[in-house]
Amino acid sequence: MTAGLSRAKPGRDPVLILGAGIAGLGAARGLSSRGHEIVVIDAASEVGGTHRSRVIGPYTFDVGSIFYEDDALVFRIFPGLRDLCPVVRRVERRLTPEAGLVDFPLGAADLAAPGRLHRLAAQLSLGWSKLTRHGDGSLEGACVARLGRHFYEDSGLKSYLERINHVPPAEVDQEFYAHRLGFLQGCPRQPAMPGAFWPRRHRPGPRSLRVRPSEGFEALFDPARRMLDAAGVRIELGAEIRRIRKIGDLFEVETASRSFRGCAVVNAMPLAACHKAVFGTESGLQSLDLMTLFVSAKRLPAAMGNVVQNFHPQGRWNRATIYSRIYPGLGAGREFLSVEVTLPPETPPDPAAAYDDFARHVCGLGLGIEGLRLEGHDLVPQAYPFTPLGQAQAAAPVLEALEAFGIVSVGRQGRFEYLPTATGVLRRVNEELALASARLQLRSSNPPRAVQA
Ligand SMILES: Cc1cc2nc3c(=O)[nH]c(=O)nc-3n(C[C@H](O)[C@H](O)[C@H](O)COP(=O)(O)OP(=O)(O)OC[C@H]3O[C@@H](n4cnc5c(N)ncnc54)[C@H](O)[C@@H]3O)c2cc1C
Repeated sequence: MTAGLSRAKPGRDPVLILGAGIAGLGAARGLSSRGHEIVVIDAASEVGGTHRSRVIGPYTFDVGSIFYEDDALVFRIFPGLRDLCPVVRRVERRLTPEAGLVDFPLGAADLAAPGRLHRLAAQLSLGWSKLTRHGDGSLEGACVARLGRHFYEDSGLKSYLERINHVPPAEVDQEFYAHRLGFLQGCPRQPAMPGAFWPRRHRPGPRSLRVRPSEGFEALFDPARRMLDAAGVRIELGAEIRRIRKIGDLFEVETASRSFRGCAVVNAMPLAACHKAVFGTESGLQSLDLMTLFVSAKRLPAAMGNVVQNFHPQGRWNRATIYSRIYPGLGAGREFLSVEVTLPPETPPDPAAAYDDFARHVCGLGLGIEGLRLEGHDLVPQAYPFTPLGQAQAAAPVLEALEAFGIVSVGRQGRFEYLPTATGVLRRVNEELALASARLQLRSSNPPRAVQA
């Protein structure tokens, strides 16, 4: 083990960043610009974390993470990357409980469908929930207080949430609502009785966003890596972190094949994995793994748009992203899409069974889907932090224990926080690094260096 130690000399030891996802790369960029020597360590063979692609025949698939706002922070941190990302209109649809394909997100206009009695029931239910419910801390409580029980159940939102979490929404903390149901913003807050009969039908149109280059994420992250190289950042890939310990003032990070010594550790890999590497025990944090199926099709209905959310009571899949519509001209004449399926805890992935379930479900609804084929799959372990009812603060003691050990935790995975966009992740990285800067500055005895890229 010692033979493999990196040749860190006293006074010249790097900051070790664990994880080369968006958070790790952002931390590397920020800290190297402040003069720290940096080594980034990741188990994967490429940088980018969940922003990764797989090329299979004429198709380029991803796990589901491809969209960026035009002013995304990643474009500011790595200048030049924005121009590599084409602009698309995200045409997002929802498969309704009646097997219709309608606009997503839910909005005020949904209270208009399908008849006056239905509308009145939804409005009365919403009014009732405003008068009687003050939230019980659960995801279901938050949804019912916001939408009324009638609309919450009738719209398929309840089935959608059950499918994602694998437990009833009444057993999930309302934290989930705060982070993941931003799309409910468009729903009316107050019951408006006249609106029950003459509701507003206005919906915001499709949103223009940037997407990763058509060739895949490598084309995006290669220039980012070159900028980091130019700033002296070392990136060690294929290095799964097994153990972290302290040796005097230094930290030692062990992987299967070698060890690294550093003056400080910034964690951007899953919080539970970091806890295990430091303390050798489980953290008790629960998360959900994601399996993404890579599927091609002879024909998909136009009404599916380019992203479809499953609000139907059946089917294990929760979202499909249709790349052939985001990158027209690719796919050698076939449509191709990724289909996301969250896995129940402790359940090994079974892509063939999940694909059969998807194919049987969507083909059985008579949507006009033809010639589906499973092309491959990918797995994101610990993709979603899961917070059971009343355990919204479950990560706090784990973060505190790691902080007491001397580790700075950043990012979605590093802090066990549901952050839905890379911009949100990078914002939190900057905040955490600013808070920890005194500590990092004290530990790193390297003289400040000019930014080179
Ligand atoms: C299905 C899905 C779709 C999404 N869509 C979008 C989107 O369109 N746009 C968007 O901006 N955001 C999207 N997000 C959010 C996305 O997760 C964040 O933008 C961001 O990728 C999170 O970055 P991170 O660095 O915290 O985590 P990750 O990207 O998960 O990086 C963590 C890194 O830690 C490494 N690691 C794990 N264990 C170890 C170990 N033991 N040793 C060494 N390394 C290890 C992993 O290999 C990985 O590289 C999506 C997320 C999901 C799950």
